[in-house]
Amino acid sequence: NRRIVLAARPHGEPNASHFRMEEGRVPHPGESEVLLRNRWLSLDPYMRGRMSAAKSYAEPVGIGEVMVGGTVSEVVASQHPDFAAGETVVAFGGWQDYAVSGAKGLRKLDPRVSPPSLALGILGMPGMTAYTGLLDIGRPKPGETVVVAAATGPVGSLVGQIARLKGARAVGIAGGPEKCRALTEVFGFDAAIDHRAADFPQALAAACPDGIDVYFENVGGAVFEAVLPLLNDFARVPVCGLVAGYNDTELPAGPDRSPVLMRAVLTKRLHLQGFIVWDFADRADAFGRDVGAWLAEGRVAYREDVVDGLENAPEAFVGLLKGRNFGKLVVRLD
Ligand code: NDP
Repeated sequence: NRRIVLAARPHGEPNASHFRMEEGRVPHPGESEVLLRNRWLSLDPYMRGRMSAAKSYAEPVGIGEVMVGGTVSEVVASQHPDFAAGETVVAFGGWQDYAVSGAKGLRKLDPRVSPPSLALGILGMPGMTAYTGLLDIGRPKPGETVVVAAATGPVGSLVGQIARLKGARAVGIAGGPEKCRALTEVFGFDAAIDHRAADFPQALAAACPDGIDVYFENVGGAVFEAVLPLLNDFARVPVCGLVAGYNDTELPAGPDRSPVLMRAVLTKRLHLQGFIVWDFADRADAFGRDVGAWLAEGRVAYREDVVDGLENAPEAFVGLLKGRNFGKLVVRLD
């Protein structure tokens, strides 16, 4: 059983030295437990937070502990009445070949989910994040302008597509011309803006002639600075992620710009709301029904970035924080 543990806590950008591959025996399931063979491992930006000891909404991974992560896994042995060997489940199996798990957090994979890795992307946690953050907090109306960055990723790409299904105009922000082309050609965004281009703030303003009604916040940083002056009165800002700053070790250089933000919140009567996907657990059925149907009908597209081999997970994860992935990043463990 190979497993990747957290070897050290990064200060700034993580690299290979912060992870360690270990080999050991395949564990045995205890009473009411199952033994899982992980087949697909999801790599997600939130894992950077788990590598840090800073206080957050979830406990950090301990030094020497297996890195956490969502998986699609096969039950190879079961001591639990609800699960049988041979079944495929969505689990929290972590960065390892085998995992022992209780029933909590295990969900049988709907056999219609094909390929099974979609249960980690558009039909899983990131998809549910896009669906609930946009519809429950963003609440786009027909004709409104919705802006999202990291827009070729699993969250952003679905945000833009649902916005369009609800009759809104979708403007996507991504890094580089190739990703921007995918935004309009694959995901059907109305406009695509490259945040790495020198004229990014002007290009964003030109793409939003009627201002911004919903800004789905995935990245923070320079993108948010360009968005803020364009927000309309009563704009909604679901605050989902701030990936541009996950490796930051200090605050940006002064002056303090929080008064500018708070003045905009007041005078434009902005609605900013942070959320974590599990806040909307009661929306899981609606999410599965709607996005499952849209996918089956070809009304939403997805893109995966598949990396082969557990040993390649650290490098792929480091790249995810810098935009080296192109689509939902998953590791095939076979
Ligand atoms: P992605 O697959 O989109 O990967 C992250 C992307 O962020 C990169 O590919 C890169 O895209 C972009 N990025 C990185 N640095 C910057 C930067 N400085 N400026 C602009 N863009 C940058 O990730 P996900 O779709 O999985 O996640 C998107 C966001 O949603 C993250 O912030 C994540 O933490 C958050 N999230 C929050 C959840 C919640 O419950 N609140 C649940 C799931 C995700 P590019 O090359 O286009 O710049």
